[in-house]
Amino acid sequence: MTKPIVRFAPSPTGRLHVGNVRTALMNVLFAQAEEGMFILRIDDTDVERSTAEYEQGIKDDLTWLGVSWGKTFKQSERFDMYDAAADKLRAAGLLYPCYETADELDRQRKLQRVAGKPPVYNRAALELTDDQKAAYEAEGRTPHWRFKLSGGTVTWTDMVRGEQSIDVSSLSDPVLIRGDGSYLYTLPSVVDDIEAEITHVIRGEDHVTNSAAQIEVFQALSTHLPTFAHTPLLVGADGKSLSKRLGSLSMLELRDQGIEPMAVASLLSKIGTSDAVEIRHSLQALASEFSFTKIGRAPARFDEKDLIALNAKLLHETPYAEVADRIPGDAAFWNIVRANIEKISDVEAWADIVLKPMAGEIAAEDVDFCKSAASFLPDTILPETWSELVGHLKTETGRKGKGLFMPLRLALTAQGHGPSMDDMLVLLGAEKAKARLSGDVA
Ligand code: GLU
Repeated sequence: MTKPIVRFAPSPTGRLHVGNVRTALMNVLFAQAEEGMFILRIDDTDVERSTAEYEQGIKDDLTWLGVSWGKTFKQSERFDMYDAAADKLRAAGLLYPCYETADELDRQRKLQRVAGKPPVYNRAALELTDDQKAAYEAEGRTPHWRFKLSGGTVTWTDMVRGEQSIDVSSLSDPVLIRGDGSYLYTLPSVVDDIEAEITHVIRGEDHVTNSAAQIEVFQALSTHLPTFAHTPLLVGADGKSLSKRLGSLSMLELRDQGIEPMAVASLLSKIGTSDAVEIRHSLQALASEFSFTKIGRAPARFDEKDLIALNAKLLHETPYAEVADRIPGDAAFWNIVRANIEKISDVEAWADIVLKPMAGEIAAEDVDFCKSAASFLPDTILPETWSELVGHLKTETGRKGKGLFMPLRLALTAQGHGPSMDDMLVLLGAEKAKARLSGDVA
């Protein structure tokens, strides 16, 4: 296969969320797997809603995920190319002016529905004479422009969905240019895909119908036609649409919540595939496992619980050197507490317990028991000290199980759970441990 050229084409009208990041990853991983090129295209033809801040935010989000692009450009700088393409379509009789208002179109659709017909544009504008067009324009109407679909069947072999066949006579001729002269996404996208020689258009299956129309636009403008891959959409753990929740599932939010980029990338590239959902430590590792043949047809279930679990797994496997500048404490501290955290910020609580002065929790009935533990402790704590202490107290007091070790854990850490006490005792050191077991702040 020649080296693929793919593009991810977000609109800068918001930050990236799990849905579009999944699409971005499919493109990135495929390109990496095939040593191709990944292009970041900013779809900002909607100048009202697009902002430079969101554009920068999208780039920051991708960079945070470890994604880099071979090339980036934005559509708002390429209107000349789209104008030229529109002229070409007009000259071929494939782009025609329409004067209906939104209300008129709405009424038409209602009538069609009442008559039991599909709400497909009736192509009345194709019948307009020059005089009628001039009359509309004299009225102050400016035309919007529709692409004339062939009325036939568009077929393609989709890398995810297999053989596709769409009868475009069931579709309305798509509007390519609005009444105010602005472009909808359909034409600029095709023009850019031709110009950038995109080999594979990889996007969500909400674009399947678009693809049928866009394939006809491709054919009208060029001999270049990319291969298509439409991936199933993400749904929530309950199988319901995520659309209302996507705001809180932005990279910005997840990052603020302490989710690591590789937890996001691992989950989003594995759900909905035949691979197990497991943590991977680099995009390269994910790319080496990527294949369109592994992507199922059912919606991919996104569950935040899986994200937290993967995040924890990732941290449990992360060496100190990779987090040294993000955490208090040293390698010994990290190696002991990492198994007990889900997010890197959880380290703070353990750092407070280990590094800052505090009093443990000692119930009235455990005061003497803890004191005798304090007096047993040697001045140097070794990894075996804990089991020696517990063995000694067991013989001395007859306590066992929880009644034996829980009062000690509470006195030393004020927590009922945490890293193994052999390790915690070493981290605390003799002085702190003795003081806390004696009920002092240390
Ligand atoms: N800007 C379009 C979107 O976000 C791009 C779709 C495409 O990849 O062609 O839906």
